[in-house]
Amino acid sequence: MTDVPSTRLRVAIVGLGPSGAYAAGHLLANGDLDVHVDAFERLLTPWGLVRSGVAPDHPNIKTVTRVYDKTAADPRFTYHGNVELGRDISREDLLARYHAIIYAVGTPGDRPMAVPGEDLPGSAPATAFVGWYNGHPDHRDEVFDLSCRRAVVIGNGNVAIDVARMLTLTPAELGRTDMADHAMFALARSEIEEVVVVGRRGPEQAAFTNPELRELGVLAGADVAVSANEVTVPDAFREHAPSKASQRNLALLAEYATRGRRGHAKRIALRFLLSPTQIVGDRRVRGVELVRNRLERADDGSLRAHPTAARAVVSAGLVLRAVGYRGRPLPGVPFDAQRGVIANVGGRVVEPGGGPTREYVVGWAKRGPSGVIGTNKRCAQDTVRALVQDMVAGRLDAPIADAGAVRDWADDVASVPVTWADWETLDRHELQAGQRANRPRVKLTRVSDMLDVLHPAQREDQGSAVLARFWA
Ligand code: NAP
Repeated sequence: MTDVPSTRLRVAIVGLGPSGAYAAGHLLANGDLDVHVDAFERLLTPWGLVRSGVAPDHPNIKTVTRVYDKTAADPRFTYHGNVELGRDISREDLLARYHAIIYAVGTPGDRPMAVPGEDLPGSAPATAFVGWYNGHPDHRDEVFDLSCRRAVVIGNGNVAIDVARMLTLTPAELGRTDMADHAMFALARSEIEEVVVVGRRGPEQAAFTNPELRELGVLAGADVAVSANEVTVPDAFREHAPSKASQRNLALLAEYATRGRRGHAKRIALRFLLSPTQIVGDRRVRGVELVRNRLERADDGSLRAHPTAARAVVSAGLVLRAVGYRGRPLPGVPFDAQRGVIANVGGRVVEPGGGPTREYVVGWAKRGPSGVIGTNKRCAQDTVRALVQDMVAGRLDAPIADAGAVRDWADDVASVPVTWADWETLDRHELQAGQRANRPRVKLTRVSDMLDVLHPAQREDQGSAVLARFWA
C-alpha cells in the first residue's frame, strides 16, 4: 500500500494507451502540481494501440513505450490493470474519490459502410482484423478465411494500407515481427494472391501517408499495381491547394503506374473513384459490387464522391472495411453520438445541458480517430492545461474520500488485480519467448494465459479443485 498525502490533487485516468500515458506524463511533469495519478486499464496490458494497433512490421513506432515506461516508473503513478469502467468501477465511484477524471479510452468501434451484405461471413471491419493479427484478447478468436484468391480492402487511409501489407507479407517478413502467433501462422499459409484497395475518391484525396505508400513499392513478395488512367487526375478533380503529402503520393502512384510486374507471387492493386454498393454472396462473401464515382465540388470547396451508372462486381472471398474507427459510449459519461466521441469542448467533458464536470478527455475519444501516435502528446497537453486551469480556479474542489481509503479501494477493485510489476513480468515473459524464437516478442493473447504466467500456483490450485470435484 502506498502512502498518499491527503492534500494531493488526485487524478484518475481511464485507459492507458498513448493518450492516457501522455496525459499522465504531462501531469507528473508539472512542477507546480502535487499530484497522484491512478491509471485504470481494462486489459491486463498497457499501451493501447501501440500494442494492438500499430502494424507488427513497424517496430520503430513501438519504441515510444520507453517514454511511457518512464512515466509509469514515477512513484506518483499507480497502474491498475484488469479494471473496466462499467464492469468493476463506475463514473460515480471515480467522482467520489478523485478531484478529476481523464478518459483516454480511444475509439474501439468501427464505422459501418451501410451497404447490403456487410454482415455476411467473410466481410469484417479492419478493426477486428488488426486486433486479430496484433493479438488483442477481444479479437484473438476471430476467424478469417484466407483460402480465397482475392481480398478487397475498402478505404484509403493508413489502416487500409497496413491491412493490405499484412495480407501480402512473406513468411520470412512475418517471422521478423511481433505479430500474434495464431495470425502469423495463418497468414503464412494464406492463399490470397491479390489484395484490391478501393478508394471512393481520387488519388489526390487519399488519406494514406507517403512512407506507407512508399513501403508498398518495396515489399519482398508483392507487386504494387496502379492504373495510369486512375492516377491521371482531370483538372476538375484537382484540389485547389493540394498538400505536399498528396502531391508526393500522386508522384509515387504515377511511378507505380509505369512499373511492370516484378514477378512477385502476390500483388496489391490500388484502385480509385470506386465505392461498394453491396457485398455479394448468399451464405458468405463472393464479391463486391463497385460503382464508379466522379468528384463534385461541394459548397465548402471539398471534392466529394458521387456515383455514376457504371457498376461491376469484383469477385473476392474476403472484404475488410477500413473506413474509420468510432467511439463507444461509456456508462454514464456524456457522449456525442454524431461525432462518435465523448461530449467535450476542448477536452473538458460537458453535460447535455452544457454544465461543467470534473471530467476530461484526451486522444481519439476527444477528437475522433485521426493523427499518428505523437499527435496525442499535444492533445493530452491541451487537456491537462485545461484541467490545471480549472484546479487553479477552484472548480475541482469537491468533497472526496480521504487518500488512504481511495488507495485501499483502488487496489481492490479488480477481480484479479494487475499491478505495474505484474505487467513487467508479462513483458519480460513475452520478450524472453521472443528471444528464443529470434523475434522481437511472442505475445500472450489470452487473458487466461497471462494470468497463468502471473499466478501459476493459483491456476494449479484451481485445477486441483476442479479435479477434486470431478473425482468426488
Ligand atoms: P482515415 O485516415 O480517416 O481513412 C479512412 C478512409 O476511409 C478514407 O479514405 C475515407 O475516404 C474512407 N471512407 C470513409 N467512409 C467511407 C465509405 N463509406 N466508403 C468508402 N470509403 C470510406 O482512417 P484510418 O485509416 O482508420 O486511420 C485512422 C488514423 O490512424 C489516421 O490518422 C491514420 O493516419 C492513423 N494511422 C497511422 C498509421 C501509421 O502511421 N503508419 C497506421 C494506421 C493508422 P474519404 O477521404 O473519402 O472520407
